[in-house]
Amino acid sequence: MQRIMIKKGYFGQFGGQFVSELLYPALVELEKAFMTAQKDKYFQKEYQRLLTDYAGRPTPLYYAKKTSEFIGYKVYFKREDLLNGGSHKINNALGQVLMARLMGKKRIVTETAAGMHGVAATMAANVAGLTCDVFMGVKDIERQKLNAEKIKILGGNVVPVSRGNGILKDAVSEAMVAWIRDLPNTHYLIGSAVGPYPYPAIVAYFQRIIGVEAKRQILDRENKLPKAVIACGSGGSNALGVFQAFLSDKDVELIFVEGKEAAGFKNGSKGIFQGAKTYLFQDEFGMDRRTSSRAAGLNYPGRSPILSDLFDKRRISVSVASDKEVLDAYFQMSHLEGLMPALETCHAIVELFKKKGEYKKEDIVLLNFSGRGDKDLAIARQYLISNS
Ligand SMILES: *Cc1c(COP(=O)(O)O)cnc(C)c1O
Repeated sequence: MQRIMIKKGYFGQFGGQFVSELLYPALVELEKAFMTAQKDKYFQKEYQRLLTDYAGRPTPLYYAKKTSEFIGYKVYFKREDLLNGGSHKINNALGQVLMARLMGKKRIVTETAAGMHGVAATMAANVAGLTCDVFMGVKDIERQKLNAEKIKILGGNVVPVSRGNGILKDAVSEAMVAWIRDLPNTHYLIGSAVGPYPYPAIVAYFQRIIGVEAKRQILDRENKLPKAVIACGSGGSNALGVFQAFLSDKDVELIFVEGKEAAGFKNGSKGIFQGAKTYLFQDEFGMDRRTSSRAAGLNYPGRSPILSDLFDKRRISVSVASDKEVLDAYFQMSHLEGLMPALETCHAIVELFKKKGEYKKEDIVLLNFSGRGDKDLAIARQYLISNS
């Protein structure tokens, strides 16, 4: 991402390091480790080994035949749901625990919403021999019981956060406090391409593999580029992961789909949030607004500064999906393809269905299938009951 960074720490006018002086040395240390990691042969070899043998890369590119027949154009799914842990989050978690080890840290602190990142971070911490404290909003613990249990079984320490609304952004704030209290021993493993520089660049770097693989796979199979790439998101790590490989292919439309109930781009504006200047779902007083998306993983008001810059420059377009559309897509995709997507992923799938008939029969669309939906069964069942 260095390529599109103009002023140090900024992506266009977004990003920066809006943090307390106490944190500044930790960010400097992190940036140094990031520079080393990118050049270090041993680091790269170990990261590749873990991506391949532990996480399960490369992930397949799946021609979704039934869906293609239904929507009238060709769609391929990049199967990040098949990774160990059930989502793309492990790509970043493995990279960051190796960086933590490079910096001599013993402990990981992190936050999670849907629990996918908490699971990935705990797994990765185990691989690297580090301990892991996972801050999780009480509301999210309740909504995502299965993943909270998983984290505990894996040996992670789930720290319930009840302040604020008891959701993701509150967990982020608490995790930051825990980090500041023990900087020499602790690495804060951010789960998305957000936060102060260099975090957005680090997370985008470790997720880049998604698009690199997908582009090669599509060209191998079809010998041409897709018309569009669709990805869901809030922070934007899976979207950036797949988009980066296509940034300079000007004819490829990049579509980011966010939750209607937490629409940081569509209904948000520029502001400072959790360490960076970025697009944000906020009220007229600059406070982040209460988000209510059913997909816990998209219930975050801030957007990646890197995505914010791409949005301002109109390189990405943005769509929204409502909770109802998302839940309908969950069932429809499960029936159509026998694939149960995460509710987050369903946002992208809603957009796919909305574009029915918009492309030609031979046109290709790439959809990043960011995660699997076993964790969302309870919400889906409740939806069925209240709608019957
Ligand atoms: C966490 C998560 C997301 C949202 O996070 P981004 O950083 O915006 O990608 C999307 N899909 C799944 C399956 C997730 O677990």
